[in-house]
Amino acid sequence: MDNIPVIMIIFGGSGDLAHRKLYPALFNLYEKGLIKKNFAVIGTARRPWSHEYLRGQVQEAISESIDNYDKKDAEEFASHFYYQSHDVTDVDHYIALKHLAEDLDKKYDAQGNRIFYMAMAPRFFGTIASHINDQHLVGPGFNRLVVEKPFGHDLASAEELNKTIQESFKEENVYRIDHYLGKEMVLNITPFRAANPLVRSVWNKDLIENIQITVGESLGVGTRGGYYDTSGALRDMVQNHIFQIITLLAMPEPEKLNSKEIHQAKQELLASLHIPTLEDVEKYFVRGQYAAANDKPAYLQEDQVAPDSMTETYAAGRVVFGKGPIANVPIYYRTGKEMKEKKTRIDIVLKTQDNPYGEVKPNVLTIIVDPEKEIHFTINGKEVSGNSLRLEELDFGYSKKELSEIPDGYERLIHDILIGDNTNFTHWAELKQYWKYIDAVEQAWETMNQAGKKPETYQPMSFGPEKANDIFANKKDYWIYQ
Ligand code: NAD
Repeated sequence: MDNIPVIMIIFGGSGDLAHRKLYPALFNLYEKGLIKKNFAVIGTARRPWSHEYLRGQVQEAISESIDNYDKKDAEEFASHFYYQSHDVTDVDHYIALKHLAEDLDKKYDAQGNRIFYMAMAPRFFGTIASHINDQHLVGPGFNRLVVEKPFGHDLASAEELNKTIQESFKEENVYRIDHYLGKEMVLNITPFRAANPLVRSVWNKDLIENIQITVGESLGVGTRGGYYDTSGALRDMVQNHIFQIITLLAMPEPEKLNSKEIHQAKQELLASLHIPTLEDVEKYFVRGQYAAANDKPAYLQEDQVAPDSMTETYAAGRVVFGKGPIANVPIYYRTGKEMKEKKTRIDIVLKTQDNPYGEVKPNVLTIIVDPEKEIHFTINGKEVSGNSLRLEELDFGYSKKELSEIPDGYERLIHDILIGDNTNFTHWAELKQYWKYIDAVEQAWETMNQAGKKPETYQPMSFGPEKANDIFANKKDYWIYQ
């Protein structure tokens, strides 16, 4: 790998994301040689830490995440870290930050390149972006801005944030990060679709009956009730991760695998996204809140959650596009807290056809994204005795060694930011469409709240409310994963 010269400024350097994900990912990239001699990282946050303290934290973060790492390398890597105590709203702090970045640029010969990583509460994103601009923090080399999720709370706030960001950064330099796009099996969707005649030839509206996406979390909201109650499952999971997966499944096949063509394909598809009406939401969507179980509280009893909250901890719904290879094929999803398993899984259900055996079970292509990383093709075959049919699976998977070598999503995406490849980041035009859809569903739910229709209650360790079994337009369809 090349040695990329850069000064990276992490806003929120004492936070959970920096500790658990960013520092280990950067260390792995350092070990692979992508950053080596010519880089420095400035961690900023409110706490009065010293450079030494941050370096200790960085080494601790590495030791907690990576087995058998080289301690000497970790020490040398951490020596490139600098801490700047910083309040995001204080202009003077940006001036100090600018001077530190310039000094480090000289010291490490970073060639004027800057990466600004916003790893803190989203309410600060706009403020940071405008101060980067006002106080001229950008360097004479490349300047890239990394924005964590969520990007806005609805379309209006996302548009406002985007406007502020675009005053300082061109769209191609804005990296809206969604770590699902760095996951091995999400990256596998395009090759799976495009490189296998067997799959490619069925990837159309005539042969796919429906697509089903399940993103289950086995835990409740824990200590994050306050934040979660302002968000809910739709904003927290569907607006970003689930929509990214759906877009990759439904977009027209790009002619080439470069960023421009892939984003073009995505935008062509998303322009035809059906925005759900109130009637659609009443028919094809279900929201829920988890009930109490054993010694665990119900959602409405969680800390910092309003006892009459209407926020959903579970959402099931439907996405339909008017264009693309699977135009008008329903794509169903369900996601929630306190579900049966922590699992991310995609089931592509093929249509059954008239055949001499009569009614048969559908073929299903299954991609398991997490925790396993596998593809299964469920097909019909003959029973040993007699002529009746049974289902069997053809499997694609990785060896133990390969699994241990799969980089974390953050490592992959930070690699891409360093080399300036924005293929696996969300373009504003895409995000805008996602928000339009989310706003329409939220609005419909608000109307339903006014009419006294509350979210369903579901039992923890389940796949959500019973009602989610009735969202299929074709009444013969059912959730494949049960
Ligand atoms: P966190 O609360 O652990 O950390 C926030 C950081 O911001 C801390 O370093 C804190 O000191 C700093 N900060 C807060 N107020 C400040 C102020 N006024 N001035 C200067 N610094 C201030 O949050 P987190 O979990 O690390 O999340 C950060 C971002 O990453 C959020 O946008 C979150 O949605 C996103 N994210 C986090 C995770 C995760 O696993 N933690 C995963 C995906 C996305």
